[in-house]
Amino acid sequence: MNYKQNLDHKIFKIVSQAAKELNLECYVIGGFVRDLLLNRNHKKDIDIVAVGSGIELALKVSELIPNQPKVQVFKNYGTAMLRFNDMDIEFVGARKESYTYDSRNPIVENGTLKDDQERRDFTINALALSLNEETFGTLIDPFNGVTDLHNKIIRTPLDSDITYSDDPLRMLRAIRFASQLHFEIEIKSLQAISRNKERINIISGERIVDELNKILLSEKPSIGFLLLYETGLLDILLPELTALNQVEEIEGHTHKNNFYHSLEVVDNICPNTDDVWLRWAALLHDIGKAPTKKFNKKQGWTFHGHEFLGGKMVKKIFERLHMPLNQKMKFVQKMVTMSSRPIVLAQDIVTDSAVRRLVFDAGEEVENLMTLCEADITTKNPKKFNKYHHNFKIVRQKIVEVEERDHVRNFQPPISGEEIMELFGLKPCREIGTLKEAVKEAILEGEIPNEYEAALAFILKRAEKMGLQKV
Ligand code: ATP
Ligand code: MG
Repeated sequence: MNYKQNLDHKIFKIVSQAAKELNLECYVIGGFVRDLLLNRNHKKDIDIVAVGSGIELALKVSELIPNQPKVQVFKNYGTAMLRFNDMDIEFVGARKESYTYDSRNPIVENGTLKDDQERRDFTINALALSLNEETFGTLIDPFNGVTDLHNKIIRTPLDSDITYSDDPLRMLRAIRFASQLHFEIEIKSLQAISRNKERINIISGERIVDELNKILLSEKPSIGFLLLYETGLLDILLPELTALNQVEEIEGHTHKNNFYHSLEVVDNICPNTDDVWLRWAALLHDIGKAPTKKFNKKQGWTFHGHEFLGGKMVKKIFERLHMPLNQKMKFVQKMVTMSSRPIVLAQDIVTDSAVRRLVFDAGEEVENLMTLCEADITTKNPKKFNKYHHNFKIVRQKIVEVEERDHVRNFQPPISGEEIMELFGLKPCREIGTLKEAVKEAILEGEIPNEYEAALAFILKRAEKMGLQKV
């Protein structure tokens, strides 16, 4: 097959010209070729492999581009990168790799195109298109990657056990591609992942999380998480989650399987958010349920305080996986901790004061929390399903109304502590806090509007009862 007409981007002509001048062979390889053949939205990074020095090729390419973009050289890796228009073009010399047991960083020597294709993780990622003048656009596919693309199969070019053991990150990449592309992992490969799962421990948390994020950002993350589960990787990476995979029965009472429920919630939330952190929250929203589960005769199964404990567990997970411990973590924690709040609302009549309290506590994140809770409705009872969704619609509407009227989203007390001190000639003391709290409560309960005059009148009345004199 020839893909000349698909390589009409200027950069390929330029690279071809540069290679000719240097008298070396070069090819576009990897994800770009795969996605081109899949008709998938082209990504913005292009990998070029040169049989010779990738760095020299990059420098020559830059020379041939009118504004001569800066070339970033990574000497240790023998790679170089430049930006052309909005694309990252990465250059590497064709190489042969050999691995030692304790590291995923190989010993590297120069090699042929075939050597380079053999070191790639999957047949669908080893496809190369020639950029050489005489053969421009010719596909080089030594491992039948095109057939695998067609059959939607993820397969390693060489022995799977060696491939995964050499660089265990590939296990996660296999599962990530399966999730992103809706492909299946070849059975031999899947078994090899199970056998080599412990090898994942030599991979850094950051790289693991990169892949988990890509799984979470795919259209149906449950595909990836079920594969992680099936291969035993999830037990190693997120044991808190696999602990939810059980249904116990005591005296005829069962509870739902919260592992499959959590995956369903993640899938549910995907059409409504591209925010990977909200998707993390969906994944982790019930993790407190395994350690808090109890059975008693009166209530059946309970998970008291699971939201609060879950929030604490979020921090531990983020620490363990070297995830950011900043606002993002706090956001996920907040979502998990508050994840049951709207549900309680949805079961009853939705009162203004309940909505006001929700907005007060969730602040800027109240819409995200609603999105999470809507995704959390996984009941198979259509009556309940409709009722909850209907109630959440009312809640969302009331959030807007209440906010317009009462502005409690970023609540600022209408009367400050200093002003209260002045009013009654007080030094800092407990009474001031009591009065401020009483005003806040009155506003949240809807007894008074969130306004200065009303708050002042309220405070004067309450202070009188407390025996405070206005000065
Ligand atoms: P995407 O950009 O969507 O993540 P990609 O296939 O381009 O997909 P990259 O991580 O950009 O993935 O890597 C580019 C190419 O480098 C891959 O297509 C593959 O050929 C090769 N590659 C990347 N990581 C590995 C690895 N761990 N082991 C073997 N080959 C790899
Ligand atoms: Mg890529």
